[in-house]
Amino acid sequence: MAHAYDVVVIGAGTGGYVAAIRASQLGKKVAVVEKQQALGGTCLIWGCIPTKALLEHAHALKVVQHAKEWGVTLPAGTPGIDMGQVQARKDKIVGGLTKGIEFLFKKNKIDWIKGTARLAGGGKVEVVEGDRRTLEAKEIVIATGSAPRSVPGITIDHTRIITSDEAIHLKAVPTSLVIMGSGAVGVEFASIYRRFGSEVTIIELLPRLVPVEDEAVSAELEKSFKKQGIKVLTGTKVTRATASGTGVDLEVQGADGTTQPLSSELLLVATGRGPVTAGLDAEALGLELDRGYIKVDPFYRTSVPHVSAIGDVITLGTGVHPQLAHVSSMEGVLVAERIAGHEVQPLNYQHVPGCTYCDPEIGSVGLTEAEAKQRGYDVAVGSFPFGVLGRAKMAGEAEGFVKIVADKKYDEVLGVHMIGPRSTELVAEAVLALRLECTVEELIRTIHAHPTFSEAVAEAAHAVHGAAIHM
Ligand SMILES: Cc1cc2nc3c(=O)[nH]c(=O)nc-3n(C[C@H](O)[C@H](O)[C@H](O)COP(=O)(O)OP(=O)(O)OC[C@H]3O[C@@H](n4cnc5c(N)ncnc54)[C@H](O)[C@@H]3O)c2cc1C
Repeated sequence: MAHAYDVVVIGAGTGGYVAAIRASQLGKKVAVVEKQQALGGTCLIWGCIPTKALLEHAHALKVVQHAKEWGVTLPAGTPGIDMGQVQARKDKIVGGLTKGIEFLFKKNKIDWIKGTARLAGGGKVEVVEGDRRTLEAKEIVIATGSAPRSVPGITIDHTRIITSDEAIHLKAVPTSLVIMGSGAVGVEFASIYRRFGSEVTIIELLPRLVPVEDEAVSAELEKSFKKQGIKVLTGTKVTRATASGTGVDLEVQGADGTTQPLSSELLLVATGRGPVTAGLDAEALGLELDRGYIKVDPFYRTSVPHVSAIGDVITLGTGVHPQLAHVSSMEGVLVAERIAGHEVQPLNYQHVPGCTYCDPEIGSVGLTEAEAKQRGYDVAVGSFPFGVLGRAKMAGEAEGFVKIVADKKYDEVLGVHMIGPRSTELVAEAVLALRLECTVEELIRTIHAHPTFSEAVAEAAHAVHGAAIHM
């Protein structure tokens, strides 16, 4: 017998579970099909939460390593890291949060159907593994997310040549780790395992680390990474990687064409993620795909009526769609509200904050200086270093800066880019500034509490007008 719902969501990641909760809040009868044993998807199980938990451990170790400076006395010896305890604490956090989503499903009377879904056509979703059954849905939301992918010629064996899915579970600190790719995932693992004691080499094909960030941010991160003993090879390609019983032998090629051998205990491939549509029968149903991603309009409608898609699995056909938890969740809210008949406005993807939790942290939103110039703005820029602030000195976290990119003509804030302490928190003010089309003058007139890291934002605004107070 078919089970009838207003909305059936496929996938319980940060896109799917949020869409389900919002649809339920708006009076819809909702089911979610999820094939994993826990709710929360990539973010909770393999992504945001486990990596940031590991980074907090790395930060704790950093503080202990500087115990003398803090006047904290420790027994003689070098502080180390107990990976058993690290993994246990991380898993406890992940378990608590995934259980929290189960609680929210119960609270919102959402049915979790445990199994793998396929689109059966005519408003039907067939659960082909697990709780086998056919669901009838007035509206279907596909939120099947993404999975790690490699590059041609590099075979992931999940033992020596690994992805982030394995890197979050390591039982021992590798002696050496080569990381391919310096996006958010690559640089975060570089910070984690360097602090834990690994010899870390990070290889980036493009000329600079974190290539989507403002150039000044990339340069500052490279400076800091080198200071921490992370080997940085930019403009470099991995041409060969062969796993053996004890490690990985690599060959890398620099921009000038010269090659060099490298070897390491582990190779982490962090070159991006691809869409998950396998087994859905999306194309058979007539869903339009683009390089495997499901094509949607700005309201997340696919090419098939009453079938929507959100999150990592989609493309809007307008350039890169950010694969971020907060983007998928916002899309989940919007799709549920649109299904419930609310008038919704398309998301402004220029206002998506990018947070990278490496050490030092990066937070950014809006146009980089180069992008603003490319678009023809008469650009004004102001930067302010965290190191000057009393709050940063007290915290012993004095690296980095806040940089504001503005339009000279209207004084409008176009982008804010920061690297340094608490940047992933401080960026929230910048996101609001862009959303409200703030001028630099308005940021200057906003009272920033003292002593805080946020004073760097106010000072960077002053600097745009050539008048930073403390510099
Ligand atoms: C290491 C790492 C760190 C990250 N850190 C951050 C971060 O700090 N901040 C941030 O914003 N983003 C981060 N991300 C990205 C973030 O995790 C993703 O953007 C987000 O999880 C995407 O959500 P989603 O709902 O689209 O898909 P997913 O979270 O991938 O969820 C999809 C779900 O669908 C299920 N599914 C797939 N096919 C089927 C099927 N046929 N039937 C039933 N179920 C199915 C899957 O099991 C999965 O649970 C990180 C990612 C990684 C890998």
